[in-house]
Amino acid sequence: MNGSEEPPEAYDYDLIIIGGGSGGLAAAKEAARYGKKILVLDFVTPTPLGNRWGLGGTCVNVGCIPKKLMHQAALLGQALQDSRKYGWQLSEEVKHNWESMTEAVQNYIGSLNWGYRVALRENRVTYENAYGEFVGPHKIKATNNKGKERFYSAERFLIATGERPRYPGIPGDKEYCISSDDLFSLPYCPGKTLVVGASYVALECAGFLAGIGLDVTVMVRSILLRGFDQDMANKIGEHMEDHGIKFIKKFVPIKIEQIKEGMPGTLRVVAQSTDGKETIEGEYNTVLLAIGRDSCTRKIGLETVGVKINEKTGKIPVNDEEQTNVPYIYAIGDVLEDKLELTPVAIQAGRLLARRLYAGSTIKCDYDNVPTTVFTPMEYGACGLSEERAIEKFGEENIEVYHSYFWPLEWTIPSRDNNKCYAKVICHVKDNVMARRELPLSERALCKGAQISGMYTFV
Ligand SMILES: Cc1cc2nc3c(=O)[nH]c(=O)nc-3n(C[C@H](O)[C@H](O)[C@H](O)COP(=O)(O)OP(=O)(O)OC[C@H]3O[C@@H](n4cnc5c(N)ncnc54)[C@H](O)[C@@H]3O)c2cc1C
Repeated sequence: MNGSEEPPEAYDYDLIIIGGGSGGLAAAKEAARYGKKILVLDFVTPTPLGNRWGLGGTCVNVGCIPKKLMHQAALLGQALQDSRKYGWQLSEEVKHNWESMTEAVQNYIGSLNWGYRVALRENRVTYENAYGEFVGPHKIKATNNKGKERFYSAERFLIATGERPRYPGIPGDKEYCISSDDLFSLPYCPGKTLVVGASYVALECAGFLAGIGLDVTVMVRSILLRGFDQDMANKIGEHMEDHGIKFIKKFVPIKIEQIKEGMPGTLRVVAQSTDGKETIEGEYNTVLLAIGRDSCTRKIGLETVGVKINEKTGKIPVNDEEQTNVPYIYAIGDVLEDKLELTPVAIQAGRLLARRLYAGSTIKCDYDNVPTTVFTPMEYGACGLSEERAIEKFGEENIEVYHSYFWPLEWTIPSRDNNKCYAKVICHVKDNVMARRELPLSERALCKGAQISGMYTFV
C-alpha cells in the first residue's frame, strides 16, 4: 500500500499531526490560523523507570527548559561564591536542595503543559493524548493509555515524533540507570554521578550537577561534542576538568550492578577500555546514560504506508519542502535526516510548512547557519561551520582562523577563569573583503558578550 491509492471522498481532518512537541504544536497552531481542521496526537511512552510527562514534547518537559533552569541553578551557586568578593556577607553555609529545585522546575513545566492545551483549544485544534500509528493510506489508529483505539482519516499527515534516549543494551542499563528523561524529575538528589556519553546533553547535565555541588565523572568513548568544532569542544572539556569534573576517556560501561538499594542507592559500574584490553570498576549513586537519541519512527506504521526511513539511523529523508517519499505525508523536527536537532528549527519548519500548505507561501525552511548554544559551565555559542568542516569544504589554504582569549569584566573581581573565554572566527579567504574588514569589530563584540566562548564563520 502507498499514497498512490485512491483516497476516500471525505476525510475526518485536513491534517493529522503525530507528535505534540516543538514542531508539531507550531505546525498545528499555524495551520489552524487558516481555518483548517487539525488533530494533534501526542503520547509519551514511559521511560524504563516509568516516568512520563505532559503535552509539549522533549524541549518543554525533558530538554531545553528544565536543563536551562538547572544550569541557572548552577550559575547562581557560582554567583553566590562570587558575591562574597563583591561585598555580600553571607552568614550561613550555602547549601543546595535538589528536591526544592526539582519541584520548582516541575511546577513551571506543569504550567507550560497547561498553557499548550489551552492554546490548542483556543486555536480550535483537536488534541488527543493517544499514540498514533498508520494503518492504511490516509488512515491512522490512535490508542490512548487505557488501550482504547480510535481511527481517523486525513488529507495530509505530519510526522513530528522526535527522539528518545538510547540505551547501550548492557546488563543493568534499563533497571538501574537513568537518562535525561528521568533526571529532571528525579525525586531525590542523584549524589555521586557517572554520566556516560560526550554529547551536549551529557556535558550539560554533568556541568549543572557539578555546579550544584555533586561529585561528577564523565565516561567518554571517543571525542567530546562530535560534530562541533573540536578545538572548542576540548576547551570546554578542559574547563570542566579545571572545575572538578572527572573524565574517564576511552572507556565504555559493560555492566551495571546494584550493590545497595536506596534513593539514591549505590551502583557498581564495570567498564572496558575501547581497545578491549583493560577493565575498571567504580561505585556511584547514579548512572546517567546520555549516549545518543533514537528517532521515534520504527513503531508508527511507516512501512504500512510506504514512507522510507534510513534503516540504520531511523531518520526520515525529506525533500526541501519537508515532504517524505509519500506525497501526502510530511515530517519535521528531530526525526529528519541530516538536519539540526533544535527546537527553534523544528518550530520554524512547522510554521513554514503550514504556510506553504494552507496560505500559498513558497518560503522554505533554511537549515544553514543556524546559531546554537551549549550550556556547559563555560557556555559556548556557535554559528556556521566548525574548523574541521570548513577545511573539508574549502581546503586548508582557503581558511583563515582568528583567535582571541578574553576575561569578562564581571569575573575580574572574583579573580576567576582569567583568560579562559575564547573566541574563534573562521574565515573563507576568498570571501568578500567587506566581511573580513568587519572582523576586528566582531571580535570586540564577542569580547563584550562576556560569558561565551564562541566561533563565527563567514562563508
Ligand atoms: C536534554 C536536552 C536538552 C536540549 N536542549 C536544547 C536547547 O537548549 N535548545 C534547543 O533548541 N534544543 C534542545 N534540545 C532539543 C529539542 O528538545 C528538540 O530538538 C525538539 O524538542 C524537537 O522537537 P520535535 O517536535 O521534533 O520533537 P519533540 O519535541 O521530541 O516532540 C515529539 C512528541 O511526539 C510524541 N510522540 C512520539 N511518538 C508518538 C506517537 N507515535 N504518537 C503520538 N505521539 C508521539 C513524543 O512523546 C513527544 O511528545 C534538547 C534536547 C534534550 C534531550
